This record gives sequence, C-alpha cells and structure tokens, in this order.
Amino acid sequence: MNNKINFDKDNYLEFNDFNDVMIQAFGIGCSLCYDPEISFVLKDHPKPIGTLIKEQEKNLTDNEVEKLIEKPIQEWQKFEDINFDKHVPTFLCDECWNQMI
Ligand SMILES: [Zn+2]
Repeated sequence: MNNKINFDKDNYLEFNDFNDVMIQAFGIGCSLCYDPEISFVLKDHPKPIGTLIKEQEKNLTDNEVEKLIEKPIQEWQKFEDINFDKHVPTFLCDECWNQMI
C-alpha cells in the first residue's frame, strides 16, 4: 500500500473507541504499519464498536453483544475494503501520521 497512498489530513479525525474494544477484540491496527496504537481514523467511518456497546447503557449478554455488533462489523469491514482499494489508509498511528503530514 505504501507506494501510492492517497492521503489528505483534512479527511481524518481522532480515533476514539470506548475501552479500545476494536483494538482489543478485533485486533485492528494502523493501515500502514499494523501498529495497534491507532490515533486517527478516516472520516465518515461507522460508529466504533466499543462506543456502540457503551451506548446501550446496560449489561448485555454475549448473545446480545454478538447480535448488536454483527452489522457494524460488516460495515467496518466494507469501509476498510473500499479504502484499501482506493489506497486510502483507514487507521493511522501517530508515527505514520507524523510521516505523512
Ligand atoms: Zn502506523
């Protein structure tokens, strides 16, 4: 992906996921170096999964969580696939960010 990255810093937001659920549970990482310390995410992303769970404001059973996040996971997967095809990093760690700006 490094050869021809399409990067515009104005298209990024700080990445905040409650309890870093996506990093902890799904092992996501920086799109360029795979570092799990993600600082930025491409705009118009689906809602982070941890935040989504947190917003339910109640304790969910494993089954309920599974059901709740099934679609968002697919949306994230699709989001990443589309970005990858366009050579646009979805997630960026601090180090890669600093090299790009
Ligand atoms: Zn990185």
